[in-house]
Amino acid sequence: MKNEKIIDGKKLAEEVRFKVKNFGFKFKEKTGITPGLAVVIVGENPASKVYVRNKIKQTEDVGFESYEYKLTENTSEEKLLNIVEDLNRDKKVNGILVQLPLPDHINSDKVLDRINPEKDVDGFHAVNVGKLWTGLETFVPCTPLGCSIMIRRISNDLSGKKAVIIGRSNIVGKPMAALLLQLNATVSIVHSRTKNIEKICQEADILIAAVGVPKMVKKSWVKDDSIVIDVGINRIEVDGKMKLVGDVDFDNIHEKASLITPVPGGVGPMTIACLLLNTMNAAYKQNNLKPLELSSFLD
Ligand code: NDP
Repeated sequence: MKNEKIIDGKKLAEEVRFKVKNFGFKFKEKTGITPGLAVVIVGENPASKVYVRNKIKQTEDVGFESYEYKLTENTSEEKLLNIVEDLNRDKKVNGILVQLPLPDHINSDKVLDRINPEKDVDGFHAVNVGKLWTGLETFVPCTPLGCSIMIRRISNDLSGKKAVIIGRSNIVGKPMAALLLQLNATVSIVHSRTKNIEKICQEADILIAAVGVPKMVKKSWVKDDSIVIDVGINRIEVDGKMKLVGDVDFDNIHEKASLITPVPGGVGPMTIACLLLNTMNAAYKQNNLKPLELSSFLD
């Protein structure tokens, strides 16, 4: 396999983190403030615990403060809302992240809505979603932001290009569509109720899979020389061992695509790097400084 076909998310994330660390250092010199991220996790979801551990470690690695709130599975919605309110008021905390999914007895929408939009580094608050769709400066959800940095490194203008996104979640699919529209792509979103998904995907110059179905996207779905971004993270058993695979049948597609992200080592590392970027920009904005332009992270 030719390595130049693979978009190395690990390396790109390292570059983003390096810049965040430097800009964070400059911010500290200017204001005397260390950017702080609060991460709240409720329950024992094993994947969530791994994500939170990584987020905290990388937050500390770039020199930011992290504040971890580990709450038991039976934590009441009211208690969680009170913690969010406390974090909204806490001046040391620039960014608040409530790890999803939350247990069934807690209304996630209500919790996300309680986060101060100025500290909403996940970009899930309705105010920030609205700003994204109207083209205003805002916090962009970390996974699509990471994908868009990858794409913009290849091309900043997708005029005349067709982009197809598989998946319409608020976390990935929908914000990804907004970002691709900003880059002038012609965007389609397909989902579980769409007919002839394969045919729609065959037209894509840029194909983004965010489904959660292991290796769903087959070779026959992919146009020659397209760019394929695989957001999926699926754990499957292969020869008695657990393995991470994406939503794309990577082994059979990489020859056909012009560029493709692997799993692991593609979109995943970029997601956390973008969380750090959003946290730093939250600190800048809360101190009346201009947040960093995305263009700072594109070369
Ligand atoms: P959701 O479950 O919220 O959304 C999945 C979407 O895929 C839905 O819109 C659903 O359609 C659609 N879908 C499901 N099955 C099919 C199908 N057979 N055909 C067509 N569409 C289908 O997932 P997320 O968006 O949160 O995550 C998607 C994947 O990305 C997961 O594997 C997740 O682990 C991964 N992920 C990775 C991240 C990273 O950092 N790399 C971050 C976030 C997620 P409908 O709406 O009709 O139900």
